[in-house]
Amino acid sequence: MSLNIEAQCCIVGCGPAGAMLGLLLARRGVDVVVLEKHIDFLRDFRGDDIAAATIEILDEIGLAEEFLALSPRRVRAVKAHTASGTMTLADLSLVRTRFPFVAVVPQWDFLTFLAAEAALEPGFRLLTGAEATDIIEQDGVVQGVRFRSGDEEGVVQAALTVAADGRTSLLRDKAALPVVATAPPIDMMLFRLPRRATDEASDAIDIHLGAGWAMARLDRGDYWQAACMIPKGAADVVRAAGVDAFRDAIAEVMSDLANHVGALETWDQIHLLSVQTNRLRRWHRPGLLCIGDCAHAMSPIGGTGVNFAIQDAVVAANRLTEPIRRGDVTTRDLAGVQRERQWQVRIMQLLQSRLTKGYVAAAGDKPDGIRGLGQRIGPKLLNLPGFCALRSRITALGLRRVHVAPEFRVAARQPPDGRHP
Ligand SMILES: Cc1cc2nc3c(=O)[nH]c(=O)nc-3n(C[C@H](O)[C@H](O)[C@H](O)COP(=O)(O)OP(=O)(O)OC[C@H]3O[C@@H](n4cnc5c(N)ncnc54)[C@H](O)[C@@H]3O)c2cc1C
Repeated sequence: MSLNIEAQCCIVGCGPAGAMLGLLLARRGVDVVVLEKHIDFLRDFRGDDIAAATIEILDEIGLAEEFLALSPRRVRAVKAHTASGTMTLADLSLVRTRFPFVAVVPQWDFLTFLAAEAALEPGFRLLTGAEATDIIEQDGVVQGVRFRSGDEEGVVQAALTVAADGRTSLLRDKAALPVVATAPPIDMMLFRLPRRATDEASDAIDIHLGAGWAMARLDRGDYWQAACMIPKGAADVVRAAGVDAFRDAIAEVMSDLANHVGALETWDQIHLLSVQTNRLRRWHRPGLLCIGDCAHAMSPIGGTGVNFAIQDAVVAANRLTEPIRRGDVTTRDLAGVQRERQWQVRIMQLLQSRLTKGYVAAAGDKPDGIRGLGQRIGPKLLNLPGFCALRSRITALGLRRVHVAPEFRVAARQPPDGRHP
C-alpha cells in the first residue's frame, strides 16, 4: 500500500472514540483512514465497563445484541462498604433503559468488534502499527498527518483530521491546544486476585473503605479485578513498605479475600495508573478536532471514560458527516461538537472530584465512614428520596443521553437462519 494516502477524514487512534467515529463515518460512505500505533488492541487494565449510554447507541446502529454476546458479565449496582455499614451508591434496576446494567467486556474485544464491523464498509481503512508523528499544516489549516509504520514514513492528507489519540495525545501538543489540568489527589494500583469456586458471586462494583484505604473490586468470573486508591504520587511510599504490608492492607479492608492475597508476590503484578484529569480549552483548530481522552481525560472513578469517548464520537459523526462529504467542515461545525459535549465533561469531572474526596474522607480511620462519605458529597443530597435513582441514572446514561442521528440507525442484522445470536 502506498504510504501517501488521501482520505476525506483521517482519525488518529483506534480506541473507543476513534473506532466508533470511523465506523459511523464509513457507514455513511465517508472515505476514512484510521491510524493506530499498536499492531493490535491487546492491552490490559483498560476501561472494560460499558454502560447503558453506549449499549443504547450500539442498539441504534443494530449492534447491541452482537456486542452483548461478547461477554455474559453484567454489573447491576455500585455499593460502598465501611465499618459502619453498606450503602448502595447506584442501583441500575432503577434506570429506565432496555439495558439496566454495565456490560463488562474486555476493551480489546470491544475494539476488535467495532473495527471488524467498520471493515465491512468499503470506505474504511485501518492502518495498525502506524504512529502519527506530526500534523501537516498549510496557512494555519490542518491538512492531515505524517506517520511512521515500521521503517517507512507516510502521509495522510485529509480535509478533516480527528485526534482520538488518548490522554497522552501527540496531536493536541503539535496543534498547540492548551490543556486545563485538574489535579486529582489520587493514583490507582490495579491488580487481580484469584477467584475461588467458594467465593460469593457479586454483580456489583464493591467499594471497600476503611483503615485509611479505599479499594474497589469486580467479580470477573474467573478472577477478582481490584483497584486500590492511593494519594497522588504515593506509589513509592507504598512500595517501600513492602508487598507484605500491601497484602495486609487488602486483607484488612476486603477481609473475605484475606486468604487470596498470597497470590500477590511481587510489585510486577500490581499496575500503577497515574490518574490525570484534564480538558482542552478549545477542542479544535481549522481542519482538526480532538475527541475522547485527547479532549478530556476523565478520572477512572465512576468508569465514565469509554462512554464519554463513544458519545463524543457520536456527536462528531452526527454533526460532521455531511460537511465532510461536502468537503467543507467549518470552524462553526467543529465548535458545535465541543459545545454539545463540553458541559457534560465539566460537570462529570466535578462530580468525580467530589466523589473522590468523599472516598478519601470515608476511608479515613474513623468509625463513621459512611458519614464521612456523606459529609463530603453532601448529606442532604444523599438523603433526598430519589437521589439514589439520580446517581444510578448518571452511572448508566451519563448526564444526558446521546443518540445517533436517524440516518445512522440500522435494524439489528438477522443471521441467515433468522435467529438472533
Ligand atoms: C488503566 C486504565 C483503566 C481504566 N478504567 C476505566 C474503566 O473502568 N471504565 C471506563 O469507562 N474508563 C476507564 N479508563 C479510561 C478509558 O480507557 C478511556 O477513557 C477511553 O479508553 C478513552 O478512549 P479514547 O478512544 O479517547 O482513547 P484511548 O482508549 O486512550 O485510545 C487512544 C488510541 O490512540 C492510539 N494512539 C496514541 N497515540 C497515537 C499516535 N501518535 N498514532 C496512532 N495512534 C495513537 C493508542 O494506541 C490508543 O489505541 C481506564 C483507563 C486506564 C488507562
